[in-house]
Amino acid sequence: MLTVQGINVYYGAIHALKDLSIHVKQGEIVTLIGANGAGKSTLLKTLSGLLKPKTGSIEFLDKWIVNQTVQAIVKEGLIHCPEGRRVFANMSVEENLEMGAYLQVGSSLAADLERVYHIFPRLLERKKQQAGTLSGGEQQMLAMGRALMGHPKLLLLDEPSMGLAPLLVQDIFRIIKEVNDAGTTVLLVEQNAHQALRIADRAYVLETGRVVLEGDAKELADSDEIQMAYLGH
Ligand code: ATP
Repeated sequence: MLTVQGINVYYGAIHALKDLSIHVKQGEIVTLIGANGAGKSTLLKTLSGLLKPKTGSIEFLDKWIVNQTVQAIVKEGLIHCPEGRRVFANMSVEENLEMGAYLQVGSSLAADLERVYHIFPRLLERKKQQAGTLSGGEQQMLAMGRALMGHPKLLLLDEPSMGLAPLLVQDIFRIIKEVNDAGTTVLLVEQNAHQALRIADRAYVLETGRVVLEGDAKELADSDEIQMAYLGH
């Protein structure tokens, strides 16, 4: 579904992604783990067209997307739920969700809202509330709900559990699994390697802009290297 080959991405003189290659197959949950600054967010921003690689290729559903606009990439079904929640603070919950559907043609807004409210009942309770006044966990749900309004074929999730209370973390991981079971492929960036490896099929470990390990999520979770570096054992 997604094939990234040998991309190099720079911020000015900083070489943030170095000859990086990954792939994601239809139906998978693939997780990217790695320390702060490893390049995980940079990779998601590059996939969604916010950053352009200097070299290398990105193929999504048999199309080359490196030179496409962010909007065109969203239309193809590759949707980014960014880090830090980034909801429209002055708009209501429902208006935020409607923004997520703005490139949709041929699907019913009412049906899409119902589907998202079914996944996140808390958002239904608060649909008229200003998004900026939601709790951190609720804003995270709203950001995910907004991304789901766009019918992602591949959903890019950047640190969905960041800053959440432990019970909400469980909820968010359960929901990611449900969204995946319902047919959405997921590329998940997480600091919480333990939980991410538990729900993922495969994983890549990034260090200073390179893939240093990759493989089956369960096997990686059991490996001594990962246990020591990322799981605190
Ligand atoms: P984190 O979990 O802290 O977000 P990350 O793995 O997502 O880490 P990135 O944010 O992708 O890492 O950063 C990769 C590298 O690129 C880091 O060295 C970072 O300092 C640098 N970088 C990121 N954004 C910028 C920017 N806007 N300008 C310059 N350098 C940047």
